[in-house]
Amino acid sequence: MSNGHAGFIKKAREILEGRSGLDDIEDYRALLCEDCAFYHHGEEENEECGSFLLLKALLERDAFDLERALRELE
Ligand code: SF4
Repeated sequence: MSNGHAGFIKKAREILEGRSGLDDIEDYRALLCEDCAFYHHGEEENEECGSFLLLKALLERDAFDLERALRELE
């Protein structure tokens, strides 16, 4: 069930396999924004919606189970 979540799935896999991290804002953009209809790479990069901020805060606090989310979406 990857329809609509391809960007999230790709980045989550990279993170869980150690090929990428969540080190800077670009990593969060790749994980959380890549599949968003409002996302245009290079434009309005400073815009951060409530969903982005919520998920970013949970990921930063290790309160979001990335592995389980990936399993559910794949
Ligand atoms: S910050 Fe929110 S609205 Fe903006 S591209 Fe990311 S998910 Fe979409």
